[in-house]
Amino acid sequence: MIDYKELGLKVGLEIHAQLDTFKLFCNCFSTMDEEVRKTIVRRLHPVPGETGEVDVAAQHEFEKGREFYYQVFNDTTCLVESDDEPPRGVNMQALDIAVTLANMFNCYIPDEIHFMRKTVIDGSNTSGFQRTGIIGLNGYIKTSFGKVRITNLQLEEDACGIVSKHSDHVIYRMDRLGIPLVEIGTGPDAHSPKEAQELAETIGMYLKSTGKIKKGLNAIRQDINVSIKGGARVEIKGVQSLSGIPKAVEMEVERQLNLIKLKDWISKLRFSNIEDVSDTFSNSKCKLLRGKKVFALRISHGKGLLATKIQGDKTLGRELADYVKAKTDAKGFIHTDEDLAKYNISEEEINAVASVLKCQSNNLIALVSDFPKALEKIIERLTMFSKGVPEEVRRFNEDGTTTYMRPMPGRARMYPETDVKPIVMKIKKVKTPTLISDRIKRLKKKYGLSEDVAKALLRSNYFEIFEMYAKYNPKFIASVVTSYLRDAEKRRPLDMEDVKEILNLWRKGKISKDGVQDLIKEVSEGKDLMEVYESKYKSKIDLEKVIDKIVKEKREFVLKNKERAIKPLMGLVMEKVRGRFPGDKIYKLLKERIDIECGD
Ligand SMILES: [Zn+2]
Repeated sequence: MIDYKELGLKVGLEIHAQLDTFKLFCNCFSTMDEEVRKTIVRRLHPVPGETGEVDVAAQHEFEKGREFYYQVFNDTTCLVESDDEPPRGVNMQALDIAVTLANMFNCYIPDEIHFMRKTVIDGSNTSGFQRTGIIGLNGYIKTSFGKVRITNLQLEEDACGIVSKHSDHVIYRMDRLGIPLVEIGTGPDAHSPKEAQELAETIGMYLKSTGKIKKGLNAIRQDINVSIKGGARVEIKGVQSLSGIPKAVEMEVERQLNLIKLKDWISKLRFSNIEDVSDTFSNSKCKLLRGKKVFALRISHGKGLLATKIQGDKTLGRELADYVKAKTDAKGFIHTDEDLAKYNISEEEINAVASVLKCQSNNLIALVSDFPKALEKIIERLTMFSKGVPEEVRRFNEDGTTTYMRPMPGRARMYPETDVKPIVMKIKKVKTPTLISDRIKRLKKKYGLSEDVAKALLRSNYFEIFEMYAKYNPKFIASVVTSYLRDAEKRRPLDMEDVKEILNLWRKGKISKDGVQDLIKEVSEGKDLMEVYESKYKSKIDLEKVIDKIVKEKREFVLKNKERAIKPLMGLVMEKVRGRFPGDKIYKLLKERIDIECGD
């Protein structure tokens, strides 16, 4: 067991949630569109921020020299998204939701809301910046492990969604651009992977309690900031599920611990000049190097280093390759800590390179084709590691490992948004919604439902049906909502009025519980409620006659078993009348009829 407190683990979260309203700065719909109307092409350039410096992260993206293609849609994009027109004021409904959340998180709300521009130059925003306004500061949330600070709550615009990346251009879809987002930043107050998960769950529950958060995959996204004593703050992006959070934290701790362990070794490394060794590989069997410009680097004291695992099965060699790929056009590099036979590189070839580089036994050789800059980037990265764990932004992978994305954005990112007027906050205290956790408690207590059923009810689109009919039979209505109607939704959602009509028939004793299930199914298959009811249920079956006939047929059995005959006969009657009559009514009539037959 790892003692995370001992390691000084600190985890903070940054949670983004899309609001279910129109867009933030125009009146476009906040939905994903289908039909691309046209595509526009742009190129972005980094500009200095207020402080006069160009942001390192911005420069990093610009160096890639890419073009950006933006898909334009009909109902979800306008001239605001394409940055041909300034924002048309702030969506007040979105602002209300953000203020409600700021209240729920006990935040201080500024007297004026000022929107700022945050530089983004990966092309995900047509303007080259993201508009963001601080709505709340210095709040807190209660958890099982104590109060966690909510340091900031922002209202901002979502970026474009990425369609595909190519070597010289990126294709973006503009429909996502401008969807209102709340960003919630916590203090680094979670101290174990489990606490980090609980924190994300609790914040997610607060968000959903407003009922104004978009549903579905990617509607809530979480970035995780992780650091340990002697390590550094690293931001992990792209953790899709709550259950991925502890995994991401555990594996980042592992990576930082290993980098700390390797620091001394890495600081002993010495690098040769980068040599052109193309001649050695002119007739090589290695397809990656044959006939190419091949460059080599000697790393003294490096033997074995790149095969060292630093995060799960990921080696330091792969970690370096990620950096090379992020910073250059090289697809990676080859090194002597790998099995070179898999590349068809011969021992003679390696010996030849070693002699050019004047290698000794504890040396490591790195090879790259076409991009000598890749070897410079290896030196750069190892030099970073010799100083400790670098602060950076990383992307989460399925297997729990992470991949280098970019340096931590600097402070030069923000400058004032002059196209959006400041908003004077007259009303800061607002009524906050009841938390989902409290609603679950109430449902459990009032109706005796299980936690799972209560949760499923709250998720249902038919929750108001439960509220209306629970008084007649809470458990049955709960299963109507969470099971019958849920199944029906997979075929075709039922109209609220039809559901009420069906339950009214049940309430008046005209159909049984089975009848409710059957009618819901029939209607969801596209049939007309009243037609099905008339033909299947309202037909003039005389229940008393059916019972009379069955009792007569089974006279001997009835006389012999008396009261005990009710149960088996119930089954026969139910079979005949299929859902038309409620069970208690059948039972009552059947009992009366048997009593008569037995002469009581
Ligand atoms: Zn628009």
